[in-house]
Amino acid sequence: MGRALPMRFKSSIDKSEPWINFLPASPFPDHHELTVATNLSYDPAALSSAATDFGHMLSNPPAAVLFPSSINDIVCLIKLANSIPVPFNIAAKGCGHSVRGQAMAGNGVVVEMTSMNNNNNNNNNNNHTRIAISGNPSTGYFADVGGEQLWIDVLNATLEHGLAPVSWTDYLYLTIGGTLSNAGISGQTFRYGPQICNVSELDIITGKGDFVNCSPQKNCELFHSVLGGLGQFGIIVRARISLFPARKRVKWVRILYSNFSEFAKDQERLISINGREQEGALDYLEGVLLMHDGPQNSWRSSFFPTSHHSKIVSLINQHSIIYCLEIAKYYDHPSLDAIDKELDDLFDGLNFLPGYKFEKDVSFIDFLNRVRNGELSLRSQGLWDVPHPWLNLFVPKSGIAEFDSGVFKDIILKRKVTTGPILIYPMNRSKWDDKMSAVIPDEDVFYVVSFLYSSGFDDWESMDEQNKETLRFCNSVDMKIKQYLPHYKTQEDWANHYGSKWKRIQEKKNEFDPKMILSPGQNIFNP
Ligand code: FAD
Repeated sequence: MGRALPMRFKSSIDKSEPWINFLPASPFPDHHELTVATNLSYDPAALSSAATDFGHMLSNPPAAVLFPSSINDIVCLIKLANSIPVPFNIAAKGCGHSVRGQAMAGNGVVVEMTSMNNNNNNNNNNNHTRIAISGNPSTGYFADVGGEQLWIDVLNATLEHGLAPVSWTDYLYLTIGGTLSNAGISGQTFRYGPQICNVSELDIITGKGDFVNCSPQKNCELFHSVLGGLGQFGIIVRARISLFPARKRVKWVRILYSNFSEFAKDQERLISINGREQEGALDYLEGVLLMHDGPQNSWRSSFFPTSHHSKIVSLINQHSIIYCLEIAKYYDHPSLDAIDKELDDLFDGLNFLPGYKFEKDVSFIDFLNRVRNGELSLRSQGLWDVPHPWLNLFVPKSGIAEFDSGVFKDIILKRKVTTGPILIYPMNRSKWDDKMSAVIPDEDVFYVVSFLYSSGFDDWESMDEQNKETLRFCNSVDMKIKQYLPHYKTQEDWANHYGSKWKRIQEKKNEFDPKMILSPGQNIFNP
C-alpha cells in the first residue's frame, strides 16, 4: 500500500526517456504506456492546479498529472499502478470543486477528467461529442454522458431535444463523475431523488483497471457501490441519465417566516406531495436563513426587490433570524393561469408572514443556472477563489427543532462569523436507494443543512472552529446527523459514518480497488 509514485516512473519521464524500457515486463500488449507517457505532465502549473481545490484550505501536490485523451489512457494508468510492487495513488478530478482535498493525490497522479472533453476520441473540439441523446416514447429518453462532462453542458445539449434531467445541483459547473460520487442534491431531490437515483447505467474503470459496464441488472454490486461511492471503487467514464420533457418557464417564489416551527411544518407539508406525476407537487423547494447582513444577495442570485430591502432588514433586526422558503413550479406558456391558481391554493394553507411573498417568472434554463450570475459577480470581485470552510449535514427530522435552537440560535447567532448562505430544506428518504453507497439518516424525512461560508485566507479557521462546535453540539445531544460531502480524519470516524454499510464498503473496496489506489484524498482507506 505504498503511496509515492515510483522514482523509475518519474525519472524516466523527466528525462524524456522511453520509460517503457524501465518496466520489468510490459503488462500491456499494445504499448499503451506510451500514450500515458505522452499525456502525463510535470508542468508546475498543472501540478499546482491539481494540488488545490475550491476549499483553498489545504494543498497536496501530486507527482504528476494525467491529461487523458481517451478512456484507454486511464485504463493504462491504473493498470500501471497495479503492476508495480509499490503502487501509486490516482485521483480522478472533475473541476476540483471539493473543499477538503477529496480530489487530490499527494505524490500520486491526478487525472484531469475534463481533458477528455478537449481531446475526445474523434479529435475534434465539439464539447458535446461525449453527450449522446437517444430513446423513444416507449423506452423513455436518456443521455449517455462522459463522466468529465459538466451538468450545464448536459442541460444545454438535452434542451436542444426538448428534454432535460429532473434532478439537479444548485450549481451546474460540476462534473457528472464528481456529483455522482457524492449524491447530487438540490431543491428537486424531495420529489425526484438525488442525481445518483436518476442514472440507469454506468461505464466504470475499476481500481484494478478493468473497464466494466454496469446497471441495476448487470454487475449491480459495482453500480451501487460507485453511486455515492466517493471515488473509491472506480472512475466513472460514462453515465446514462434519464430524461423527461423539459418545461419552458418557472414560477419562482420566496416567502418569509419568523417562526422556525411554522417554517419547518410548511416545508414538510409541501414535500409530502411528491409523486412524479402528482398534481399540486412542487418541482423545487429549498430554504435559506436571513440574518446579520440582511437580504443581501450572495452567489445564490438576487431576488428581493431593492424597494423591500429596508423592510426585510427591520424584520431581521426584530427577530434575529428570518427563514426564507423558496419554491418553484415549472410550466409551459399557455398554462400560466393554471399554475397561478395551483400556487394560490397552495399558499392558502401556509403560515408565512403576510405581505412577505416575492415572485419571479423566469425561463427554465435561467432558473436551473441561477447560481452562475452570482459566481461571475464574485469572480469579478476576486471573491470566488477564496477559502470555503463548508459544512454540509443531513439532520434527521426528529432533531431539526433542537438544531435550530442549539446551532442557528446559539452557536451561529452568537459567534456572528458567517459569510455565505446557510441552506436548510427537507428530503424524503423514500426517494433514495439504500443499496447505493451514499449515507443518509435513518428517518423518513431528513433535512440538508449547508453552511456555505467563504472567508479571507487568514480567517477561515474561525469558521472552521464554528463548524467543529456545531458537530460537537450534535454529538452531545446524540442527534445522529450524517455529513454530506463528508470529511473525516480517522477510519473510526468513517466506520461510524457508514454505520451498517461499513462492512460492505470495505468488502467492495477489496473487490474493486484491492491495492487502495483510487481517490486517496477522501482519507477513508489511507488516512
Ligand atoms: P471533484 O471535486 O473534482 O471530485 C470529487 C470526488 O469525486 C473526488 O473524490 C474525486 O476523486 C471523485 N471523482 C471526480 N470525478 C470522478 C469520476 N469521473 N469518477 C469517479 N470519481 C470521480 N453538490 C450538490 O450535491 N448540490 C449542490 O447544489 C452543490 N452546489 C455546489 C456549489 C458550488 C459553488 C460548489 C463549489 C460545489 C457544489 N456542490 C454541490 C458540491 C459538488 O457536488 C462537489 O464538489 C462534487 O465533488 C462535484 O465537484 P467536481 O465535479 O469538481 O468533483
